[in-house]
Amino acid sequence: MKKRFIAGAQCPSCSELDVITLVESEQGSHMHCVECGYEENMTDSEPVAKKKKPTEQMIQWVNIDSD
Ligand SMILES: [Zn+2]
Repeated sequence: MKKRFIAGAQCPSCSELDVITLVESEQGSHMHCVECGYEENMTDSEPVAKKKKPTEQMIQWVNIDSD
């Protein structure tokens, strides 16, 4: 399982910044907020935060667990 931190992403639940991780598993990917525990399933590899903010181009992917 991979877990990637989404820098610059805002949690849709608690509105905190820089708390969203993307967790990738065999079943697919989902977002997880480390602050409030919010989770959201994803149907593709694009981060939801990017869909909600189409003009936001500053999102960076930071690997925190390369295995
Ligand atoms: Zn949250």
